[in-house]
Amino acid sequence: MPNRNLNSDELKCANELLTDIRARLTSLAAGDPALLFAYRRKVVKELGYDERGKPVARAKLKVLKWGIQNGKCAHCGEELSLKYSELDRKNAVDGYIAENTELVHAKCHQERQAAKRYT
Ligand SMILES: [Zn+2]
Repeated sequence: MPNRNLNSDELKCANELLTDIRARLTSLAAGDPALLFAYRRKVVKELGYDERGKPVARAKLKVLKWGIQNGKCAHCGEELSLKYSELDRKNAVDGYIAENTELVHAKCHQERQAAKRYT
């Protein structure tokens, strides 16, 4: 399923929110570039967690999926190193849960993502 995109009104709202957030970050940092960097990094990290979950949870999910898939890539069926494996979400909005993910090689993940862009 393709990811939902914002329509023009929603995009305008998102850009206004972004302008507000940038102004707030600049105000909080009070001219300290290192503090602005730290605030910005914290916000980016937390918003990333909102979408992707925390790294520990994804690491546990990878171990679970690796076991379920008998150490094989869900895309090509070849042996898969857990260390270099990646979770591929079937439907991005449904997040990193067992029912919505498959463990694949990085190169297979890239192939899948490229194929999705052309469908
Ligand atoms: Zn593969």
